[in-house]
Amino acid sequence: MAKPLTDQDRRKQISVRGLAGVENVADLKTNFNRHLHFTLVKDRNVATKRDYYFALANTVRDHLVGRWIRTQQHYYEKDPKRVYYLSLEFYMGRTLQNTMVNLALENACDEATYQVRVIHTAVSNSAPVSTACFLDSMASLGLAAYGYGIRYEFGIFNQKIVSGWQVEEADDWLRYGNPWEKARPEYMRPVHFYGRVEHTADGVKWVDTQVVLALPYDTPVPGYRNNIVNTMRLWSAKAPCDFNLKDFNVGGYIQAVLDRNLAENISRVLYPNDNFFEGKELRLKQEYFVVAATLQDIIRRFKASKFGSTEFVRLDLSTLPDKVAIQLNDTHPALAIPELMRLLVDIEKVPWEKAWDIVIRTCAYTNHTVLPEALERWPVDLFQNLLPRHLDIIYEINRRHLERISKLYPGDTDRICRMSLIEEGDVKKINMAHLCIVGSHAVNGVESSCITCYKDALAGHVQPRSCLTHLLNLQKIGEDYIRDLDQLKKLLDFVNDDAFIRDVAKIKQENKMKFAAHLEAHYKVKINPSSMFDVQVKRIHEYKRQLLNCLHIITLYNRIKNEPNKQWTPRTIMIGGKAAPGYHTAKMIIKLITSIGDIVNNDPVVGDRLKVIFLENYRVTLAEKIIPAADLSEQISTAGTEASGTGNMKFMLNGALTIGTMDGANVEMAEEAGEENLFIFGMRVHDVEALDKKGYDAVSYYNRVPELKQAVDQIAGGFFSPSQPGLFKDLVNMLMHHDRFKVFADYEDYIRCQERVSALYKNPKEWTKMVIHNIAGCGKFSSDRTISEYAREIWGMEPSLEKIAAPDAPR
Ligand SMILES: *Cc1c(COP(=O)(O)O)cnc(C)c1O
Repeated sequence: MAKPLTDQDRRKQISVRGLAGVENVADLKTNFNRHLHFTLVKDRNVATKRDYYFALANTVRDHLVGRWIRTQQHYYEKDPKRVYYLSLEFYMGRTLQNTMVNLALENACDEATYQVRVIHTAVSNSAPVSTACFLDSMASLGLAAYGYGIRYEFGIFNQKIVSGWQVEEADDWLRYGNPWEKARPEYMRPVHFYGRVEHTADGVKWVDTQVVLALPYDTPVPGYRNNIVNTMRLWSAKAPCDFNLKDFNVGGYIQAVLDRNLAENISRVLYPNDNFFEGKELRLKQEYFVVAATLQDIIRRFKASKFGSTEFVRLDLSTLPDKVAIQLNDTHPALAIPELMRLLVDIEKVPWEKAWDIVIRTCAYTNHTVLPEALERWPVDLFQNLLPRHLDIIYEINRRHLERISKLYPGDTDRICRMSLIEEGDVKKINMAHLCIVGSHAVNGVESSCITCYKDALAGHVQPRSCLTHLLNLQKIGEDYIRDLDQLKKLLDFVNDDAFIRDVAKIKQENKMKFAAHLEAHYKVKINPSSMFDVQVKRIHEYKRQLLNCLHIITLYNRIKNEPNKQWTPRTIMIGGKAAPGYHTAKMIIKLITSIGDIVNNDPVVGDRLKVIFLENYRVTLAEKIIPAADLSEQISTAGTEASGTGNMKFMLNGALTIGTMDGANVEMAEEAGEENLFIFGMRVHDVEALDKKGYDAVSYYNRVPELKQAVDQIAGGFFSPSQPGLFKDLVNMLMHHDRFKVFADYEDYIRCQERVSALYKNPKEWTKMVIHNIAGCGKFSSDRTISEYAREIWGMEPSLEKIAAPDAPR
């Protein structure tokens, strides 16, 4: 342990870094104590860790307020084009940490909390929720951007592991309040459901609807040291005061009040499916709820433009695309397209062709997946009931779309069927991806078999400020890389510098020790910090192939048992991730991993040369701990299945080497760092396609490869589940007879590649040099760079690194 800093040291450190003036510290201390007293109503004798966290969060938040108001005033005065990012899901990070970094308050807060004797790291670790990395990038690039989504009362569940099985627990994250959000009941909007369509002389009317109110909560999104604070607005469902009351007599009052829950269920819980479309009515309600509330807000803001309408001049909605860009994150907010049509045609009385032109020029769509079971295909019947007017509009969009196609390709009925928004069959369905493609001017995403798009960008990029990096030796290249990841290339100048190599290796080792200490403190698990930390953390899914990792673990285990005296490279293999609650196979995969761990970890012959740890409840806060500590990053999905991935890049930036297939962004990572600096193995996309044509026969690999056969037989025979020998027979049956992701086909090459990994790990210097090549190759993966490209190419906006004026610090 380094000796503790004196107050003088700390002050010197702060001023040397130049990040925050010492004079701030006294104010921060005062404000911290003021919040503890007046906001939290506590004194030091009874304050909990959480109280200290809230006091600090409120203190930091005060520094945002002036900037937030000013930024919004600035937008009103300048009236720049706005970009709206619509998503049913925002990956939440750590607001407090992020805000302190972006406002350059981190050191001053460290100092202030130190001086008031509060351990800041302990405090910030219990942090809650924040914005996603692309919202941060948009603010950092000075774009007038807004994130719009749902304020779920329950976000993604917490995962508990009980006897090796996943158990879900609801995450009641709002129980203690959220210091970052501000409710805005004055901007509440009505959202309509059900009802029927009436054709009148005055146009089409959607009548007899049920109304749910959308109550907005705003969260600040600070840019990186540019005094800009954008808004993320999340909607919460509220029943109207007269909900159900009109329909009842006096005796129905109590029941009517109780039934308010039904309306308010819309924002109750996030559907936890991962790459799987379930088609539940409540989910469709959620999708329409966010879209309807958001579009009202967008049009209100457009109409309120200082340069727009006056009492006398009606604002012409044909200029909407000059002032508004709407980015659809996946097909989940696809209803924005028919809803905007409805608002333009039914409410604003814009003729159809003109309205359609406005919609297309306003909307853009990002495609996220190629898995067919993930595609949203809503039954027409559900629409007919819940959103009858939108169904009509979609039919009309489709009629015109198919008319155009058949003019372009006369007689090509196959093509017309393929490109229709409506899929015929037992159950008629609406293909939401097709709706998005037809209704947008820009589509970006991945190659898929039915739609041709462009290479994914936004889906998979890292935000340099939150993903960096407890690894880099900053003095070597300065701090410019925080804004401009391309600066990381400069690290190549030091790739042969022994002192630098030692520094990088040392920082990684420290991160590993820290993580080992965390595991020991929280889970009573002891791991060997000099072993290779081999990590696969991501959602549990067949296509991500945690099962291939399992087969490698078993193979290593068998090899050690066969030759216990050989010099094996010690590994701690850590796997973590949540399984969708209804995804049985994924849950069995978790049980298999924990069962293998039970056998391997308790085998005295193996000792600490091989440990298998399942990391419970993988989430952003755990990612921030494990990723900087990883030596090896497992990115082993079947080629052609991962749209992009983001985990892969986070590991690369934080000094782990990648073992991976040529899938998703691994391809670009290999391009940027040089393929020789990654451990690439297995089938390429064209190999997978060729194998599909030939017919994938798992059994032939099983029969031909003895170590594979042994591993599979052990799983099937109950070696890892002695008390329930048949536990994994379905899993094995899947692998042998209907494995869509061809695990066995990549087994041999994966094992050989892992041998090369183990060999290189024995040479720390060469390993670390390869790490440096990887970090230096990360420049391209900055979300700032991606957002800049988006801004110019899709949204028609110019990013800027200029600051706006800072307000006075809060007193
Ligand atoms: C980055 C990240 C992911 C995505 O990981 P992939 O490997 O790209 O699937 C999932 N969960 C958390 C908590 C993350 O931080």
